[in-house]
Amino acid sequence: MGGKRLAACASALSDAIMMKRSAIFLCILAVLLGCVCFFRAHAGSAVATAPAQDMSPVQPTIADLAPVSPITKSDDEWQRQLTPAQFAVMRKHATERAGSSPLLDEHRHGIFHCAACDLPLFASDAKFESGTGWPSFTRPFVAANVATSEDRSFFATRTEVHCARCGAHLGHVFDDGPPPPGLRYCMNGAALKFVPRP
Ligand SMILES: [Zn+2]
Repeated sequence: MGGKRLAACASALSDAIMMKRSAIFLCILAVLLGCVCFFRAHAGSAVATAPAQDMSPVQPTIADLAPVSPITKSDDEWQRQLTPAQFAVMRKHATERAGSSPLLDEHRHGIFHCAACDLPLFASDAKFESGTGWPSFTRPFVAANVATSEDRSFFATRTEVHCARCGAHLGHVFDDGPPPPGLRYCMNGAALKFVPRP
């Protein structure tokens, strides 16, 4: 009798261990399935938020090519017109936080204008993914609308880029862009506003 009871006990114990193992196995399976679903969902959203750049050329109009007449305003006037972020970048040479500009995800056909005076500065067909976290362009839309000067701040000599009409600071230009012409106009998105064109 004792032997039979022992055998029954061992069998029950073995069943319990099997059930526990099955439960652990199912838990692991559920976690793995969850991970697969999570990564698939996120891979899908990454593709959805990064549509192909429209690289068809934007043709300048007569208005785009009009001679630039300088605009001069006091700091008080600019402060009233611009948002605090725009004023800090455009009038006080601040640099926006990398990756913060919504214009990084702007891939439509059109023109990036000066956020202060509306001068057309960069076209969508010159925009490229530099990976720096700032909107980047290979060349200005109309050469005369973008001016440069030497910037000796932060113990380095860089080439500052500013709006030829209102003098707003836009960013810097570097010579490590894609060829040709090998330039990278590294712009603060806060200094730009995008206007789509057909
Ligand atoms: Zn301007």
